[in-house]
Amino acid sequence: MISDDASHRFSRRVPAGDTHERDVCDTCGFVAYENPKIVAGSVVAHEGRILLCRRAIAPRVGYWTLPAGYMELSETTAEAAMREAYEEARARISIGALLAVYSIPRISQVQIIYLASLAEPDIAAGEESLEVGLFARDEIPWDDLAFPSVHWALAHFREVEGQALFAPFTNPEAASGDRMPSAAPPGL
Ligand SMILES: [Zn+2]
Repeated sequence: MISDDASHRFSRRVPAGDTHERDVCDTCGFVAYENPKIVAGSVVAHEGRILLCRRAIAPRVGYWTLPAGYMELSETTAEAAMREAYEEARARISIGALLAVYSIPRISQVQIIYLASLAEPDIAAGEESLEVGLFARDEIPWDDLAFPSVHWALAHFREVEGQALFAPFTNPEAASGDRMPSAAPPGL
């Protein structure tokens, strides 16, 4: 991450008192920290089937994935998961319990995957998907999944399926009730 202040002149060094090399401005001392990115997504169940999206964009075009993606600024993890489900599968979902947190240092990502259900039965491919589908347990295309974390989440889902994990999601920031969208992401 580089500041848009064109007056910065960065060099790579360990700031005083720090432990890692950073881009540090030689003029003003500004430190451009880089931190892991957070991906939010969901395993969306509907009548015993799981929502999967076949990717239309790189990487892994043509392979199947869960609706998930990078968080935007100023949204909650649940809002991000709902937004991604709508963008990729035109799915309006209800967020349930947290299914898993995957910390993947190799790519500096943290993936937060919720259990979810379809709030409305209609789905359709969004711009980032070639097609979307609802897959029964024995129809999941295990050999054509896009990423290891999709495999992990689906396997984890099968382990916990049927357990009482679908408690309504509550967000401490949404105590007033006006922060959390009901079914559709904000602005729709
Ligand atoms: Zn500077």
